[in-house]
Amino acid sequence: MKLNKLILGLDQSSYQPVGDYLIHPDALESFLKLRELCANEGFDLCLTSSFRSFEAQKRIWNAKAQGKRALLDDQGNPIDFTKLNNREIVYAILRWSALPGMSRHHWGTDLDVYDKFSLPSPDYNIQLTPEEVAPEGIFGKLHLFLDKIIEENKSFGFYRPYKEDLGGVAPEKWHLSHHPTSSLLLEELNFDFFSEFINSQDPNDFELIDIVIEYAKEIYENYVINVHRDY
Ligand SMILES: [Zn+2]
Repeated sequence: MKLNKLILGLDQSSYQPVGDYLIHPDALESFLKLRELCANEGFDLCLTSSFRSFEAQKRIWNAKAQGKRALLDDQGNPIDFTKLNNREIVYAILRWSALPGMSRHHWGTDLDVYDKFSLPSPDYNIQLTPEEVAPEGIFGKLHLFLDKIIEENKSFGFYRPYKEDLGGVAPEKWHLSHHPTSSLLLEELNFDFFSEFINSQDPNDFELIDIVIEYAKEIYENYVINVHRDY
């Protein structure tokens, strides 16, 4: 049960703080080493997200499902919410935001990163868009360096689960995962677990969960377990 709670973002008691963020204890040392390696190359590797609770993810989900927060297309541009049916809304959300309970950010093993030294101004609002992390984007240099050390197996176990479009979650170069730790959690996540979880949710508090239940298998296969596993 404890592991289940960890996977679902319901137990953060063992996570360790790094500034304002919480990290899984088994990923912490590797992250500090990665940050030091980046510092030696002239980058200030910082976090914009690490652990996110189930409740925080549900707030994002419900806001998007209610049209209170923008839904984005594959290029990261806003979609007209009023033209979508419920099924289309669910899939539009899943392209960029995980189902609450199924976010890798619940695990404390997955981090969204940027290079603070590359900010064009101190008050720059980080968007985490494909443009920012493209080779010519403001964080391009950091990501080219990360590409290189991941390729050379010198990234202390960090890799990119969303490095390419696998037809589910959009590519997110900024999203790193500590493979030795996250792969163990992913192993626990089978369809029975997923199915039991979604069927136990309160529809009054979890928008469009009926649609998620209807398309459970497809969602599980394309948006939950559909990640790069090798690095
Ligand atoms: Zn992320």
